[in-house]
Amino acid sequence: MRNWKIAVDGPSGAGKSSLARALAKELGLIYVDTGALYRTIGLFMVEHDIDTHDSEAVAARLGDIQLELTYKNGTQSVLLNGVDVGEKIRTPQISMAASAVSAIPAVREFLLGIQKDMARRGGVVMDGRDIGTVIMPDADAKLFLVASPAARAKRRYLELCAKGIECSFEQILEETNRRDEADRERNIAPAVPAEDALFIDNSDYGPAETVAEAMNLIAQKCAPKRS
Ligand code: C5P
Repeated sequence: MRNWKIAVDGPSGAGKSSLARALAKELGLIYVDTGALYRTIGLFMVEHDIDTHDSEAVAARLGDIQLELTYKNGTQSVLLNGVDVGEKIRTPQISMAASAVSAIPAVREFLLGIQKDMARRGGVVMDGRDIGTVIMPDADAKLFLVASPAARAKRRYLELCAKGIECSFEQILEETNRRDEADRERNIAPAVPAEDALFIDNSDYGPAETVAEAMNLIAQKCAPKRS
């Protein structure tokens, strides 16, 4: 297996996870979904009635959380205190909770070790917001995926509908804009591209075209040093 490190960053709903999963399969790497970690912290706080905007209250409960990532047939599971969180972390309520807790320095610090451990091992495609800048600044290729808010909200809406989760397009679009703003404007680890990021705007692409462009960029970036 190649020991490559590929970072995929960008705003929510740009298709990072679909791209990262496809690249992992294509390149024989492990796909690490870091958003799932923030979502799991959000889930824990919601389940324990903690205000996710109250940094002190959130920080005070981090000691009660044990997280583990497991991989089976290329699929990641997050174990929260030994129990698989499954799809519970994918609801709109938990998306907002994840965004709120991700702006708390103690939470980012708490999740740094587990992400850096995965990065150190190599052989990974990792997606998130700060992978190319903080978690894997030494990544072999740093992709930054963008798409218009409407294109991203439409995808998220269809995804949730397919899972039978009730929602409205307008609600998802509003949440997309709010999350973008919060992720971009926060002082800690804002979702900004690395200096050497390779941009892909996939507003008008299907999944296959996005993967093809990413493979092209990776080939150009990695081929000269790893032929
Ligand atoms: O990517 P996903 O939508 O699952 O991420 C959930 C939330 O976690 C995002 O809104 C973002 O604020 C946060 N996040 C982050 N850093 C990462 C991954 C996700 O701040 N590396």
